Amino acid sequence: MKKSIALLAVLIIRCIGLAPVFAQTEDFQLLCKPNLGEYKIELTRYEESGRYQQDIAAAVAPAAAYLAQRVRQSGKLAIVLDIDETSLSNWPVIKADDFGFIPQGPCDLAADGLPAGACGWIDWISQARDKAIAPTLELYREARHYKAAVFFVSGRPEFLRQATQRNLRNAGYENWNGLVLKTGKESVSAFKTSARRKLAAQGYDIVLNVGDQDSDLVGGYADRTFKIPNPFYYIP
Ligand SMILES: [Mg+2]
Repeated sequence: MKKSIALLAVLIIRCIGLAPVFAQTEDFQLLCKPNLGEYKIELTRYEESGRYQQDIAAAVAPAAAYLAQRVRQSGKLAIVLDIDETSLSNWPVIKADDFGFIPQGPCDLAADGLPAGACGWIDWISQARDKAIAPTLELYREARHYKAAVFFVSGRPEFLRQATQRNLRNAGYENWNGLVLKTGKESVSAFKTSARRKLAAQGYDIVLNVGDQDSDLVGGYADRTFKIPNPFYYIP
């Protein structure tokens, strides 16, 4: 909290100082935002301090409570989970790439199993080393316990299916009902909405849909949506 107040104070001083020069132009608005380098440092602290995991737990808790309430009713119940930064964490590659997105190229590992330098996302995902996001894994287990179906709907491309299945199992997700990956060139939100529409057409009542991006959650075909935090990247 103290850091947030200090950062706010810096921004106010910076913006007031610049105000006579720039007035309310777009450049002024941009300069009033945090410095990119400072923001990356804050994000790293946020992840590595455990606050990110606490915020995810707080976001998933109402989903778990809602599921517990809904499973008292009969029906062909299902939940939908996104994968990256919802069910599995890519923090090692996010950090190694300094919050950039480098799809191609190798991801060589150091002795500790973490990326030794800049790391290609496709190679990283192919190595199936992501760890579970614990509150989502717990929600998954509760759904399985209640005999609700679980579907993963992910924007990962189809050619990463085997690696994704291996990673989900390694991370503790087992016996899911379906894994829907992206094959076409449609937007993420259109693809995901279509996937849920097909599940609904099969008679599933999708009681909840959990994702870290708004594009995971818009488009309907879920009784409730739950957004978990992801301050690291944005998928339109
Ligand atoms: Mg995601």
